[in-house]
Amino acid sequence: MVDLKSQYLKIKDEIDNGIARVIDNTEFINGQDVKEFRNELATYLNVGNVITCGNGTDALQIALMALGLKPGDEVISADFTFIATVETIALLQLKPVMVDVDPDTYLINPDAIEKAITPRTKAIIPVHLFGQCADMERIMEIARKHNLYVVEDTAQAIGSDYHFSDGTTKKAGTIGHIGCTSFFPSKNLGCYGDGGALFTNDAELAEKIGSIVNHGMKVRYHHDRIGVNSRLDTIQAVVLRAKLPHLDEYNNARRTAADYYDRAFANCSKISTPKRADNTTHTFHQYVMKLNNVDRTALMEHLKNKGIASAVYYPIPLHKQKAFQGFEYNPDAFPVTDKLCESVIALPMNTELDEETLKYITDSVLEFVK
Ligand SMILES: *Cc1c(COP(=O)(O)O)cnc(C)c1O
Repeated sequence: MVDLKSQYLKIKDEIDNGIARVIDNTEFINGQDVKEFRNELATYLNVGNVITCGNGTDALQIALMALGLKPGDEVISADFTFIATVETIALLQLKPVMVDVDPDTYLINPDAIEKAITPRTKAIIPVHLFGQCADMERIMEIARKHNLYVVEDTAQAIGSDYHFSDGTTKKAGTIGHIGCTSFFPSKNLGCYGDGGALFTNDAELAEKIGSIVNHGMKVRYHHDRIGVNSRLDTIQAVVLRAKLPHLDEYNNARRTAADYYDRAFANCSKISTPKRADNTTHTFHQYVMKLNNVDRTALMEHLKNKGIASAVYYPIPLHKQKAFQGFEYNPDAFPVTDKLCESVIALPMNTELDEETLKYITDSVLEFVK
């Protein structure tokens, strides 16, 4: 699905020299590269504050901690996403309220959000799934009307642009009160281990988050609140600093590959290619298409035999996961997610796909699906 080796070879010297420098300085934790990376990412995103942390799941947990939510408070998020989004809600003894998504863009459905609001609702976590932004204009309107916090899960959409109807544009993750991302190696901006970050334009929240990631401490050994230990290693910051200047180029390469897939499958009635949502660019963390009356398992087996990877994001709706059985969900409330989990398939998507490879992949799919 990914080709991190070829990408590495193009920036090998910068990364190798940078890592050697960190080891030479023994600046393993909170070194200069971490500070520089935070500033560089804040400039790229045009956001007031970037706070780095250990991974994307921590970022989500820390965001909810910083908002001061109380056990039993309800947080609304999508049923169709990676578990981390909703897991952190439950971990903090908040109540995860999951809602259905759009059948064509796979993004959280704002009407479903509005219907799920109760007097206990305190926050919404829209997920910018597979690389495009949720309908943030609507979601921010709903949040304002009901006085709710918005935490964007932008682990799959770093670098995507969202266009508001007044003509302004903002980067994914910089629209709500807090944005959370992951630098897991396969993400669009990935390091060589675990890493994550939070973004906010609210100086007060930024200070809280900065303290929570470091044991609730501002002055050493003076702990103002319960925090966690969640840090981005200096070595990972070196990798991210080398890659950040290429992020737009990486995202363009993904879009070019997606356009190729779109064209190849345009006339195939058995395949629905992913719809581009309004007002957002798509950075194609994944290329996820829907199959219509195709034996998915057999197609994946066919591709595997030809040396082609494929995957299913996500095979089981979150409301059906064993981990969430303690919460009571109406099994009929998620018809779209239920259907998507049965019909979606993801094809290889990375920055290094050339035409020859794409042709081989699409020919192989069509050979089976026709
Ligand atoms: C990857 C991912 C996360 C979690 O990031 P980690 O760094 O793996 O903890 C959260 N949400 C979504 C949507 C993701 O894709």
